[in-house]
Amino acid sequence: MDFEDSDEYGFATRAVRAGHHRTGEGEHAEPIFLTSSFVFDSAAQAAARFGGQEPGNIYSRFTNPTVRIFEERLAALEGGESCVATASGMGAIFSTCLGLLQAGDHIVSARNIFGSTVIQFNKYLSRFGIETSYVPLTDLSAWERAITPKTKLLFLESPSNPLSEVVDIRALADIAHKRNCLLVVDNCLSTPALQQPLKLGADIVIHSATKYLDGQGRCIGGAVVGDKKRVGEDVFGVIRTGGSSMSPFNAWVFLKGLETLSIRMKAHSENAIQLAQYLESHPKVEQVFYPGLVSHPQHELARRQQTGFGGVLSFEVKGGRDQAWRVIDNTRLLSITANLGDTRTTITHPATTTHGRLTDAERDEVGISQGLIRIAVGLEDIKDIQRDLQRGLEG
Ligand SMILES: *Cc1c(COP(=O)(O)O)cnc(C)c1O
Repeated sequence: MDFEDSDEYGFATRAVRAGHHRTGEGEHAEPIFLTSSFVFDSAAQAAARFGGQEPGNIYSRFTNPTVRIFEERLAALEGGESCVATASGMGAIFSTCLGLLQAGDHIVSARNIFGSTVIQFNKYLSRFGIETSYVPLTDLSAWERAITPKTKLLFLESPSNPLSEVVDIRALADIAHKRNCLLVVDNCLSTPALQQPLKLGADIVIHSATKYLDGQGRCIGGAVVGDKKRVGEDVFGVIRTGGSSMSPFNAWVFLKGLETLSIRMKAHSENAIQLAQYLESHPKVEQVFYPGLVSHPQHELARRQQTGFGGVLSFEVKGGRDQAWRVIDNTRLLSITANLGDTRTTITHPATTTHGRLTDAERDEVGISQGLIRIAVGLEDIKDIQRDLQRGLEG
């Protein structure tokens, strides 16, 4: 029997089964449809497909059956009506903005968001008359004050990266809706396994599938989830014509990733809390930023809003940049790379890599000091990760 999705099914069941409608071949695993175009029975059918009177595939930039399985499955996991897959996380954000905004519109965004997103807003959207203002993520009154009659969209990541700040998504959704704005949440760090923003009132969820949805550092991809009109029509239209569609092969890899998402996120979270507690007790560490720690300022909120705290943490070492670099260079096991969401633990120095283009003043404003180190905790044995960091700190 084909899997018929329903609310009765739990997250793990849907992650494994949703979206796959078996072909006549009776395949058990999802097939990869590596085909650029699709054929029609007749000229009349071709005309009906192109004219939109008959549903069905035409060309893989528009729709593809393997990509469709990924979209249906992720929509089921996020609790959205509609999902469109994109070539990358940045493609998801750009297509969302192009699909929903026009010249003269205004975005209010959390200050601490992914670096390329800031460049997209400041350097490119601004050229087409879309301006962005930035506010501190956790300051709800700053969000309210920044909204103008031109504001159409509020944008955030929670928890933020690398400092793991958490905002009350439900409260911000209320603020957005009172002022006729949409709330867009980049749910990359939590994934639907730990947090479902649409259920908290957000309108649109963005993903970089490259990170935890893949989970093993293989493919670049993204997705937008939300309602049928905005995502299924407006954003889909931009992707279909703008061309940032997901490849069927990548969609298949992400499908395999989704199947293990909940157990992986649980394992990442378990490793991360142990590492965070170890680092918090280390004399050479000034401060640890992880929402799972009782010392985290939004710990209670994170407990309410999320079902787990995720795999990303950061910590500040005493001794500034020199000591931070020494810690990184003294590790042997951890990978020095800015990527996250991999089975392998990664270590990076935000001030000179991901946030290297900011001025000192801008970095101070977002709280990224020279002594800050970010870890995306992987799935190795925690004792090995901990021992490697101990070597780093004490070497
Ligand atoms: C990586 C990342 C992106 C961009 O995704 P790509 O797949 O690299 O285009 C967007 N937002 C967040 C939070 C990310 O970590």
